Amino acid sequence: MKDIIVIGGGMAGLVSAINLVNHGLDVLVIEKNSYPFHKVCGEYVSNEVKPFLESLGAFPDKYNPSRISRFVLTSCRGKSCGMQLDLGGFGISRYTLDQFLFEKATSAGVKFLLNTQVDQVSFADDSFCLQLSDGSRLASRLVIGCQGKRSKIDKLLERDFLNHKGEYIGVKYHIRYDFPDDTIALHNFKGGYCGICKIEGDKYNLCYLGQRKDLKRFGNIKRMEEELLYRNPHLKDIFNNADFLFGKAMMVTGIGFTPKGLIERHALMCGDSAGVITPLCGNGIALAVHAAKIVSELTLKYYKEGSFDRSKLEAEYYARWKKLFAFRLKAGPIMQNLFGSGFSTEIAVMIMKYFKPVARYMMSQTHGKPF
Ligand SMILES: Cc1cc2nc3c(=O)[nH]c(=O)nc-3n(C[C@H](O)[C@H](O)[C@H](O)COP(=O)(O)OP(=O)(O)OC[C@H]3O[C@@H](n4cnc5c(N)ncnc54)[C@H](O)[C@@H]3O)c2cc1C
Repeated sequence: MKDIIVIGGGMAGLVSAINLVNHGLDVLVIEKNSYPFHKVCGEYVSNEVKPFLESLGAFPDKYNPSRISRFVLTSCRGKSCGMQLDLGGFGISRYTLDQFLFEKATSAGVKFLLNTQVDQVSFADDSFCLQLSDGSRLASRLVIGCQGKRSKIDKLLERDFLNHKGEYIGVKYHIRYDFPDDTIALHNFKGGYCGICKIEGDKYNLCYLGQRKDLKRFGNIKRMEEELLYRNPHLKDIFNNADFLFGKAMMVTGIGFTPKGLIERHALMCGDSAGVITPLCGNGIALAVHAAKIVSELTLKYYKEGSFDRSKLEAEYYARWKKLFAFRLKAGPIMQNLFGSGFSTEIAVMIMKYFKPVARYMMSQTHGKPF
């Protein structure tokens, strides 16, 4: 019987595992891919996470991530406005960051099963049984579900959010382009928005959230980009003049922001598997890392204090998670409604230009504080 099994080795899974193993617990991470691998993500990480990652010895300084302190917003027609970011962040590819955290976790003593998918989770007699894609089964006392936005395992757990089809798609490129190192820009287009920021080396991340129905309407990504994204002159310039480093676009479908259950059949959900924040708020990674901190701290308490049983663990996780993240997850979709349409993006740019304190306040509602 394992102490803890973590399903999924992304940001939430890797950080939880490192914190738990650093405190002497036995942790196994089951990840369906093998590192390093690319993920569709804007790859901008809010500085909220810096103190905690540094305390774990897991801040990726050696890769020289970009330091981002300025934000530029453009409307669908290309009007633009910029402002300083109060907290700022850093840019690093998930290819590098996840591999770095995997190496940290391995050297700290976390065990991994790679190229293995968790196919089913059941709970009976105060323990879990996990069925794996290689046909084997494993038992554990605790399960932390860090399987991301949408996974096969969610279907098998019959999670309610799957009743809503995710109506968004995410597309990512790595490019070389003449753009300031310290800036993240968010360029709107009809139906979505596209971010650009520097990551490690001389590369930039170009990543957008669009609508599934537009992809269907235009038949393929290239045509959708030409018909919708190119109408914003900033995006047209990027697509026409950047050096694209992948052979083709990386895409994920089925992205949605429907609330999710935090605890499913006693498994503690963490990161995107507990709730997805709109990428507009550029903060899913910080949320995943913060939730990983909480879930691992409470798990330690469960193992160290006899009176802190499973029901107390679940109740406290629920209360802390809700207090920290519920508002931010609700604010995201509201802010998202300001984006992706001609008129509202003109207004958003105007607010940023002429009402800086309002823009600052709105920004702060979707971001947390350093932890
Ligand atoms: C278009 C887009 C842009 C974004 N841009 C940003 C950004 O710029 N900044 C930011 O902070 N956030 C951004 N996000 C959000 C961010 O990517 C996520 O919030 C973050 O990756 C969540 O981490 P996680 O660990 O919960 O999930 P993930 O990082 O997705 O990790 C989940 C892991 O679980 C594995 N897995 C899934 N199912 C199973 C299974 N059954 N068995 C075993 N393994 C499994 C997967 O392979 C994966 O490695 C963006 C999201 C999108 C869609």
